[in-house]
Amino acid sequence: MKITPLIGLEVHVELETKSKMFCGCPADHFGKVPNTQTCPVCLGLPGALPVPNKKAIESCMKIGLALNCSVNRLSKFDRKQYFYPDLAKGYQISQYDQPFCSGGFLNLDSGKTIGIERVHQEEDTGKLQHTVLNGEKVTLVDFNRSGVPLVEIVSKPDMSSSSEAKEYLKKIHEIIRTIEVSNADMEKGQMRLEPTVNICIEDNSGSHFTPLVEIKNINSFNFAVQAIEYEVKRQVEEFEKTGIEKTPNNKTTRGYDSVKKITFLQRSKEEAKDYRYFPEPDIPPFIIENEVIEMLRRELPLLPDQKIADLVKLGVEERFAKLVYNRQEVMNVLDVIASKNDEAIPANDININRLVSLMANGKIDIKKDVIAQYDSLTKVGITDTTQLTQIVQNIIDDNPSIVAEYKKGKINVVGFFVGQAMKATKGSADPKTLSTIISDLLVK
Ligand SMILES: [Zn+2]
Repeated sequence: MKITPLIGLEVHVELETKSKMFCGCPADHFGKVPNTQTCPVCLGLPGALPVPNKKAIESCMKIGLALNCSVNRLSKFDRKQYFYPDLAKGYQISQYDQPFCSGGFLNLDSGKTIGIERVHQEEDTGKLQHTVLNGEKVTLVDFNRSGVPLVEIVSKPDMSSSSEAKEYLKKIHEIIRTIEVSNADMEKGQMRLEPTVNICIEDNSGSHFTPLVEIKNINSFNFAVQAIEYEVKRQVEEFEKTGIEKTPNNKTTRGYDSVKKITFLQRSKEEAKDYRYFPEPDIPPFIIENEVIEMLRRELPLLPDQKIADLVKLGVEERFAKLVYNRQEVMNVLDVIASKNDEAIPANDININRLVSLMANGKIDIKKDVIAQYDSLTKVGITDTTQLTQIVQNIIDDNPSIVAEYKKGKINVVGFFVGQAMKATKGSADPKTLSTIISDLLVK
């Protein structure tokens, strides 16, 4: 029997705009006195007219572009009807069949591509607070968050493990922050996660798919991982017990209890038809011109993967590139070095990996003369091969069991010896030279 989890992710991101999605109320609702940032529009009072927030729509499109989506030429808002106490209008303005962006992808480090189905715009709901007032259990509603711009990023169910899901989420989080459309602060609820999970079970009788489950409103990467892992296990057990397979009608929604570390049934999931979507009559459709898309594309900063690729082009090993690509001060230094490569600083004089690792480890004070520090750290260090050979020999003599492993064919223990030798030389020797000396001595 072969079990393959099929994991998709819906990610909600609260955009950082001055005003809400369809009115002029402040969008920054966190920690504000309840119901002080509301107006007839975001309270859903009769006759109020929504006016779309241009900055929010641009941010939505930037997210789409950063995730390799197409921005659709034709787009519109739709009403998604459902009843919930924190939704004053009785419907949410969202996008149904013509989202701003669709058809993107994101690559994981393994090279696996995760499809992005769509990136659409909507508005947030209010917040319910369950509390006790005058000895009575009550639920209070705060509408400060009602109408705050949200973007929903919907992936295809292309992930097959919780670790792939975590990597995907971390990358999304980083991209959102890099393009500065939201802080995506998970503790403030600015990024909320909804994994969808089911499983493909292959046995002698063929392939079976378990019913689809959507896990609602998770606010940490680790909880998402735990919820997915629990759900995979639960669905396998459930299938073994009942044999029930996925149908168009048996989707369910589950919550995650982070204390008990279990998911629990909330409700059977609504179908699109239950929401009775129809075009929002108060907002005309959008025609997005190519110039607008190109302008937004130009405004995008370098994305994390591009920064890493640029560093690798400069000769930095990928593992070092990942340590420093998001540290602007280090990147500035590397920019200068890259641009001066053939003038003041001959490329041969600098081992770029050594320099990057020294900066990453804080051995070089980036605010002072980096090259002078690099020179003093590397050139004054031990370069005498006889001396280095003696140091390495001592380490080899002290570790006969690891030498034995090497002789059995575990060649990667060289890394251990390099590490020990770097320690012994206080990081002043060249790792490449050390590696050669170690390999030479080990085969003796
Ligand atoms: Zn308002």
